Amino acid sequence: MIYLNIVGSFNGSLDGIPIAYKDLFCTSSLPTTCGSFMLKDFKSPFNATVVNSLEEAGAIMVGKTNMDEFGMGAANVYSAYGPVYNPQSILFDENHFEENDGERRVAGGSSGGSAAAVASGMCFAALGSDTGGSVRLPASYCGVVGFKPSYGQCSRWGLIAYANSLDTVGILSRTVNDAQIIYDVISKYDVNDSTSITPEVRSINSSIPSFFKLNSNTNDLRGLRIGVPKEYFVSELSESIIDLWKKGISYLKSHGASIVSVSCPNTRHALSAYYILALSEASSNLARFDGVRYGYRNEDSNQKDGLIYADTREIFGKEVKKRIILGTYTLTAGSYGNYFLRAQKIRRMIKSDFDRVFKRPNPLHPIKKDLKFDDDNKVDVLITPVAISTAPKVEDCLTTNVNNFVNTYVNDVLVMPASLAGIPAISIPFGVSSIDGYPIGLQLIAQYGDENTLLGVAKVLE
Ligand code: GLN
Repeated sequence: MIYLNIVGSFNGSLDGIPIAYKDLFCTSSLPTTCGSFMLKDFKSPFNATVVNSLEEAGAIMVGKTNMDEFGMGAANVYSAYGPVYNPQSILFDENHFEENDGERRVAGGSSGGSAAAVASGMCFAALGSDTGGSVRLPASYCGVVGFKPSYGQCSRWGLIAYANSLDTVGILSRTVNDAQIIYDVISKYDVNDSTSITPEVRSINSSIPSFFKLNSNTNDLRGLRIGVPKEYFVSELSESIIDLWKKGISYLKSHGASIVSVSCPNTRHALSAYYILALSEASSNLARFDGVRYGYRNEDSNQKDGLIYADTREIFGKEVKKRIILGTYTLTAGSYGNYFLRAQKIRRMIKSDFDRVFKRPNPLHPIKKDLKFDDDNKVDVLITPVAISTAPKVEDCLTTNVNNFVNTYVNDVLVMPASLAGIPAISIPFGVSSIDGYPIGLQLIAQYGDENTLLGVAKVLE
């Protein structure tokens, strides 16, 4: 735990509060590497908007946190600077720090460094980014809160892009209340981010009723409807996770909520659609790392005919290279229609699944006058597990056999739908596995812009 001796005036809401940042947020005082050798010596001339907002509120940056290279991964074993270990798998005592070798688990990715920093008490909260679960999955593995607000709610300006139509600033903290404190500071319109939710949409959003009022703190859930989407009951789910999911449902019921089974039929396509869209965008975004403008440059590149960028781009890790090749392929003329466009259609179908189950209308779509808020089949939030298992062992994620590559992608199956729909979701620690004692998180998902309800229910569940 860090104890700070805070001196000075207490003007901002976060004066003296230590915050860590995933190493893809540009900071002018520390390098920003994105977990890659490509940006090993890169120092941004400016701060990301969210970093500025927190600093203006008085927060102190305690450091940058390790991550999967360019955000690509679910276990944080793909960083050029080495894996992040789950703090629960490291033995601490007052005088020494020792690794328990047989039991080293991953912290989850790609915001594993941020989750581990919060879980081990190095900071009050940490920012991460969630493109397809990268805040919620490590939160579940490390036993902390991981909150992904709606897409566009917090500025992405200064967040180095992986897949910009999916990238969302996320918050890791010990409690939901702490996450809300940070969220209240960074959730605002930013003219520098063309995808930031405009003041007009923000005001439409706040005029639509939510179950909870802003920053409310009540345990009374009478009148709230919670949906259990049956498609999240995937065959890979471990027994102890199913047990805790059931416990979470009963717990909310005991606070007055009614529980409804709902269907989001396109959930099963989410994983494949995500990996087509994210990789396509990544192949385009990462094209800027050519050794000409900034970042690493292999000087030999100049001497070889026809290989202007190849030697420089050799510095990317294996996983990043694989994804650039796949993403480039899905964008080629011959496969664009079969892959990219189809994946976009699936994305729209996944969004409509959510719009159909939520009571609250989506503020991004024209609001129908005859909308019934009391529709019996509609719900306020969904409850699902976050991950199919507890944190896997580091070795199992490092193994290079083909099955394991696929397995690490499958870990994201429950977090991807909310990312594709751009809707808010949160992972809340809800107990530990009866088998290995590692933490398990439950996920709540709400309608686009309905952070009030999401955080309100999360406070009851934690
Ligand atoms: N695990 C997913 C991927 O590898 C999600 C990563 C993320 O959200 N940054 O793409």
